Order: sequence, then C-alpha cells, then structure tokens
Amino acid sequence: MSNIVAIVGRPNVGKSTLYNRLTESRKAIVDDFSGVTRDRHYGVAEWTDKTFTVIDTGGYVAGSDDIFEAAIREQVLIAIEEATVILFMVDVTTGVTDLDDDIADILRRGKKPVFVVANKVDNNNLRNEAAIFYSFGLGDIHLISSMTGSGTGELLDEVIKHF
Ligand code: GDP
Ligand code: MG
Repeated sequence: MSNIVAIVGRPNVGKSTLYNRLTESRKAIVDDFSGVTRDRHYGVAEWTDKTFTVIDTGGYVAGSDDIFEAAIREQVLIAIEEATVILFMVDVTTGVTDLDDDIADILRRGKKPVFVVANKVDNNNLRNEAAIFYSFGLGDIHLISSMTGSGTGELLDEVIKHF
C-alpha cells in the first residue's frame, strides 16, 4: 500500500472518469485505511511493472457553497497527508476558476509532488488553452483526455517515477 495516487480537483473536471479508467480492470476497494469516508474511493491500478492505489475524491454532500468548498479543502489536505503523488485535475474547457486557485494554494504549501493534469483535451485545438494553468505555479501541465485515454500513458510514465 505504499504507492498512492490521489486525484483532487473541483467537481466536474473528470476525476471519476480518470479513476474509472485507471482502475477498470482491478475494481478492488481498499478499505483498511483509517479515515475512509464515502467521499473517497480507493482502487487498485497497474502501469508497466508498478501496482498502486488510486484515490478518487469527490461525491461531496450537497449543501451551501461554504460547506462544499470546505469539503473540497478537506479532501486536498487528506491527499497531502496520505498520497505519494497528487494529481490536481483541471478542465481545459473552463480554464481557471477561483476554486482551482484555492486548491492550488493549498497544494503549493504541501510537500508532496503535484502533477497539474489538464483534462478534456479531446482534440489538438484545445492543447493551447492549457497554457493558462501555468499560472498555478505548480510546474508542468499534463494534457489528457480521460474520456479517450489520450495522454494518460505519458502521465503515468511520469507518475510512477515517484514510486
Ligand atoms: P468529477 O466530478 O471530477 O469526478 O468529474 P466526472 O468524472 O464525473 O466527469 C464530469 C463530466 O465530465 C462527465 O460528464 C464526464 O463525462 C465529462 N468528462 C470527463 N472526462 C472528460 C474528457 O476527457 N473529455 C470530455 N469532453 N468530457 C469529459
Ligand atoms: Mg467524481
């Protein structure tokens, strides 16, 4: 259980789509973590010779915006605690939102490796749009389409170097 990849980001950016893609052949749910809640899903994934746990965060309880954003912040803090690598997912079709900036602020203060993952890059015309995400100050942008799987192999090649 030593290699853990947490996917964080605001709702609707595609976290669960990526989680399902990474874990689809290995649906085992790992529930021997302390602090597991229904807001987090744990699955097993493999890439080349590495096996690792993927955490999908989300499924937030609907409520006021304050509760909502507090819940997201909490998920990010837990990810910083328990993950080996954090995938910070954003949506190339919407650009940067205030909530994205809030999450980026928390991640910059954490000590864990963060991959900025620009999702929904379904075609080459969208590649240029992703440059806006350099404004987070979190380094390289990894372009993927969780829907088609484009770019996910290249992303995983980089992620597993941290194991
Ligand atoms: P989450 O709230 O971050 O877990 O996001 P979901 O995985 O539930 O996806 C939110 C919506 O975005 C769904 O309608 C997905 O089908 C869609 N989506 C996810 N990944 C992609 C992608 O790569 N391209 C496009 N066009 N849509 C996507
Ligand atoms: Mg989700």
